[in-house]
Amino acid sequence: MAWTTITKSRNQRRSAPHLHDYESVRSHFSWEQARQDLEGLPHGQGLNIAHEAVVRHASGARAPHLAIRWLGKNGMVQDYSYGRLNELTNRFANVLRRLGVNAGDRVFVLAGRIPELYIAALGTLKNRSVFSPLFSAFGPEPIRARLTIGQAKVLVTTSALYQRKVAALRSTIASLEHVLLIGEDRQPTTIDGVQDLGLLMQEASPDFTIGPTDPEDVALLHFTSGTTGTPKGAMHVHQAVIAHHMTGKYALDFHEDDRFWCTADPGWVTGTSYGIIAPLTSGITSIVDEAEYDTERWYHTLQDQQISIWYTAPTAIRMMMKSGVDMVRKYDLHRLRFLASVGEPLNPEAVLWGREAFGHPFHDNWWQTETGGIMIANYAAMDIRAGSMGRPLPGIEAAVVRRTENGVEVVEEPNAQGELALRAGWPSMFRGYWNEPERYKKCFVGGWYLTGDLAKRDDDGYFWFVGRADDVIKTSGHLIGPFEVESVLIEHKAVAEAGVIGKPDPVAMEVVKAFVSLKDGYAPSEELRRELLGFSRARLGAVVAPKEITFLATLPKTRSGKIMRRLLKARELGLPEGDTSTLEAGS
Ligand code: ATP
Ligand code: MG
Repeated sequence: MAWTTITKSRNQRRSAPHLHDYESVRSHFSWEQARQDLEGLPHGQGLNIAHEAVVRHASGARAPHLAIRWLGKNGMVQDYSYGRLNELTNRFANVLRRLGVNAGDRVFVLAGRIPELYIAALGTLKNRSVFSPLFSAFGPEPIRARLTIGQAKVLVTTSALYQRKVAALRSTIASLEHVLLIGEDRQPTTIDGVQDLGLLMQEASPDFTIGPTDPEDVALLHFTSGTTGTPKGAMHVHQAVIAHHMTGKYALDFHEDDRFWCTADPGWVTGTSYGIIAPLTSGITSIVDEAEYDTERWYHTLQDQQISIWYTAPTAIRMMMKSGVDMVRKYDLHRLRFLASVGEPLNPEAVLWGREAFGHPFHDNWWQTETGGIMIANYAAMDIRAGSMGRPLPGIEAAVVRRTENGVEVVEEPNAQGELALRAGWPSMFRGYWNEPERYKKCFVGGWYLTGDLAKRDDDGYFWFVGRADDVIKTSGHLIGPFEVESVLIEHKAVAEAGVIGKPDPVAMEVVKAFVSLKDGYAPSEELRRELLGFSRARLGAVVAPKEITFLATLPKTRSGKIMRRLLKARELGLPEGDTSTLEAGS
């Protein structure tokens, strides 16, 4: 395998990275010891995410430290210290208790990135109820489906979202007892079962004691992105916090003076595990921006908020690349020291662009809703092989496996392709798909959790993403991962994004077909199409290079920013589009 290596120089390591010696930390690591970095509930009463995220800092010297800074889309700024966050989340937990919401009951939140969302999430966990976030841009049907699957007891949402998306279908969700209205726009309400959360919070006590929490109590219900089909509700337990905390330290390299910005929405797992929990358990400052992506606004946020660690996604990075390096240079980004990316394969071109534009490469890491936290990563202290997902976290055993008649076998041979598998049993591993025990069971074979992604492992233990098992292209006896082809296409100066599928073919079984969107200043033409075909053929060879290229203004993506190749394929073949509940508007 050929790759570009980015070597870490000493001056890139201003504060000594936590994972300075990967091999040694990995060989001495145990989850029991990682648990010791957390406090636990007093008197041995178990482990609760909200205690670790809020209470333990609020009851010590870190109480006045800034926990969350909220940037409103219209320029308003609100600061929440650990002490204040503790009080507000106590109040929310007391509201739930007063309403008769018990441990294990599901509390859903349907809202944009507003402060109340964060308060409700942590207050729910204090009450030992199960927090389930819904992406605010969902339409009524996806909302109804998820509330029904999760048997929601409480829904926290804004007046506007309630009126537009929930009111009409409320009567069909039998389990839903309470709707609590939040946000600036909320109206006085007289509807049965709908209350103003602001009033309830005022009346509630600011003191709350978290009850005994079994580390195996369910804490979070997270729906997957729906890239490959109907979203699944993955359940996570309170002790997932051990992995959240540990990965914040090792994969994102949190240090106590860091200002961290995770750009993901809590409607997706990244926005909860790393947009809420991990920075708080580390006691650092987390920046929350209510607004949607906007290149200039983002550069301003990085500069003005003095972000030191930035966790974002390939789609956003590619959008920034589209606007060029000159734009970045206008900003003072000297505080920025660590850049990370997740959600989709990160093309080598994007990793290198990070270095050119920001002076730091992007560090790709891999995980899923089901894994609850980062599993494979490029680390601050480790050289990067551009295009690789990196190496497994301490405590995580990853392998490339093949399914056999009796189970699975580990593929020992380096650079051979197979399914990415993780040895079952880490703390943030999902404990079930809500109400789908059979589907859950099928994910585990012979002690391995099978991820549904295909990967390769090189001689040095770096993992390379090939594609989702469903997306892999079979052509003339070869298996081709779309990522490899897409990465070459975006090396071309005209290409902004590429999505590659297998198109059925009577001779070759499938042929490689690419959909491409162009950078500003380029227009589709027959000449450019021919140029791109030749460009990819020269780099990939005739078998792997696309045979067909179609230009699109934008590629269909999930709202969490993942290219939906199954939709490109369905559209190409004129087949039904399947579940599109998570499709980004206008895709
Ligand atoms: P669904 O399971 O509903 O189809 P999804 O798999 O997209 O949706 P998520 O759990 O949000 O839902 O996404 C996890 C998937 O995203 C991974 O299985 C992988 O395919 C992809 N992914 C995440 N990070 C990376 C990465 N760094 N490189 C390559 N792929 C990644
Ligand atoms: Mg998935």
